[in-house]
Amino acid sequence: MSPEELALFPFLTETSEYVENLDFSLDALMTSMVFESVRRRGFERIMQAFDGEVSKPSFGNDKEVLSELLSYPYARILVSCVNEPAFTRRYALSEATAAYSVMKKAIEKDPDFVLDIGKDFGVSAVLSDERIRIYFSDYVRYALSMKDLSWKLINRRIEHGYVTIRREEFARLLQEAVRKRIEGSLPIREIPEEIQNACGAQTAELKAKYEEQRQNLGDADLGEVDFSMFPPCVNKALSNVREGVNLAHSMRFALVSFLLNAGMSTEDVVKVFNVSPDFNEEKTSYQVTHIAGNQYKTPSCATMQTYGNCAGKDNMCSKIRHPLGYYSALKFLAAKRKAEEDKYGKDEEAKEEKIKE
Ligand code: SF4
Repeated sequence: MSPEELALFPFLTETSEYVENLDFSLDALMTSMVFESVRRRGFERIMQAFDGEVSKPSFGNDKEVLSELLSYPYARILVSCVNEPAFTRRYALSEATAAYSVMKKAIEKDPDFVLDIGKDFGVSAVLSDERIRIYFSDYVRYALSMKDLSWKLINRRIEHGYVTIRREEFARLLQEAVRKRIEGSLPIREIPEEIQNACGAQTAELKAKYEEQRQNLGDADLGEVDFSMFPPCVNKALSNVREGVNLAHSMRFALVSFLLNAGMSTEDVVKVFNVSPDFNEEKTSYQVTHIAGNQYKTPSCATMQTYGNCAGKDNMCSKIRHPLGYYSALKFLAAKRKAEEDKYGKDEEAKEEKIKE
């Protein structure tokens, strides 16, 4: 691959080898003015990840190619310094989504180029007319985590051990391979203190941004699960389950991901469904484990409304944008109330007196 192509796929073995052979020191990367643009781009990669996808630039000269190449290892150092699993997952997914965009275009014009990328992940595949034939175990390795039922092996035709898929689907499978590789290789262990100090300001900024988003998404540590603080949409779904009313697929997904994100174990979530007449433990267990394993986000209120799953809005609903935001807000208020009671007692007069003192 050319340096420009390597820069677009920084997670490949060939790219790491290329970068290793470049004549620069880690110390210089972290501190030298020469690498200022690299550090800026590395930081930008992560900020873009917060918005969903790392951009892929077009290159005007060699300096820009080099900057893009080195910005990836720098971004990895920053992600490792932040060292938050959810943050790392978000970053890995965004890099993988960006790679997918490039591969999706490339595979139409030059399928062999993308097949070669697949080889780096040990994927055995061949071009077959307009489609790609991929060895079934390689297919399963990456299709297993896909939500859509169409990815299930049972919905695919296998011939002589190969699954035939569309080119775009092959690129999508590789997105998954990229995500797993990046996520699995982070955080980098034992980053020297002087390196951590050198990027301390950017790390702090990223941590603050992450914390802000976490709060907005209701992704905070919610402590013990308290059913009495669940939002109306979740309560409605739970009562439907209890009454044996079948939930729409989108609501079932929202309910399971909500309960998991609220802190329930997969076993306890499965038990929630063990009241409906057509309860199928194996199927429910599979679905819940799949959602838990992929750490899917609970849909926002806007998405819930789109799918007709927002039910029984109350006053608190007007103050939040996410069902988990509803739950965490009530938990926060309850914890605050308790802290005040512990400090001042339940007696309102005593509280006022103590406040005046
Ligand atoms: S506004 Fe949000 S939290 Fe409230 S019921 Fe609708 S989806 Fe649920």
